[in-house]
Amino acid sequence: MPEIPSPEATLTDAATDTPVIQIRNLHKAYGALEVLKGVDISAPRGHVISLIGSSGSGKSTLLRCCNLLEDSQQGEILFKGEPVTWRGEGHHRRPSDPKQVLRIRTNLSMVFQQFNLWAHMTILQNVMEAPLTVLKRERAEVEKAARGYLAKVGIGDKCDAYPAQLSGGQQQRAAIARGLCMEPEALLFDEPTSALDPELEQEVVKVIKALAEEGRTMIIVTHDMKMARDVSDHVVFLHKGMIEEEGPPETLFGAPKSERLQGFLMSTV
Ligand code: ADP
Ligand code: MG
Repeated sequence: MPEIPSPEATLTDAATDTPVIQIRNLHKAYGALEVLKGVDISAPRGHVISLIGSSGSGKSTLLRCCNLLEDSQQGEILFKGEPVTWRGEGHHRRPSDPKQVLRIRTNLSMVFQQFNLWAHMTILQNVMEAPLTVLKRERAEVEKAARGYLAKVGIGDKCDAYPAQLSGGQQQRAAIARGLCMEPEALLFDEPTSALDPELEQEVVKVIKALAEEGRTMIIVTHDMKMARDVSDHVVFLHKGMIEEEGPPETLFGAPKSERLQGFLMSTV
């Protein structure tokens, strides 16, 4: 006989099913240039979403809208079911609650193509900085965690080095450790391997795969179709600010329906 879930169980399940990030009908323009034209995207807890598409299709903008680094003119952004509150309209629309913005930003760690490490700080200091200054956590505890995350990404021996003394792949892994040290609800990656030589790319892909396997919630903008295929639960193909096609990686890469996606995939091999 099938089990009938108790009301409590249903409630709990519904609560845990709330996506970490949800975007509904998002519109974003830079002046007259419409960059996002009604985009919906959702990152359920423990899922990996990959965003693919040609250069200029709006991938970075969409990612930056998720953590409110960019303003948007229309549509909803929800963090763990909590809608961002706005004041003003259209080009004047801004988040109205600075505490909410801070909560969302600190819970969505961003990893950039160019690493963006602070050159004058050691790797350990880089990783410790935001937990100390933004989250005001205790130094000894942060240092322990930071060393742990640096070891986890395979550069535990680089704590006292400066960014310039590291290879690109090592710098990017330091940037990932820095993101992890915020203990965020999700990680957002913007082309994390694009600035790297192919042989260094793989060490970063390996770290991202390990994070996916341990059930981290991630949105990854990438040009690396192999990684997208390997790590994603869901892939979104963006074309000129609209979702042209989306689905599980097997379908999206194995049997793309849209001609634009077919063309895009051909151009990436
Ligand atoms: P992608 O990451 O897919 O390459 P982007 O989100 O960076 O695309 O850019 C989408 C479009 O928005 C492009 O036409 C780009 O030139 C434009 N754009 C991006 N950032 C800005 C900005 N700060 N000001 C004006 N236009 C921008
Ligand atoms: Mg981009």
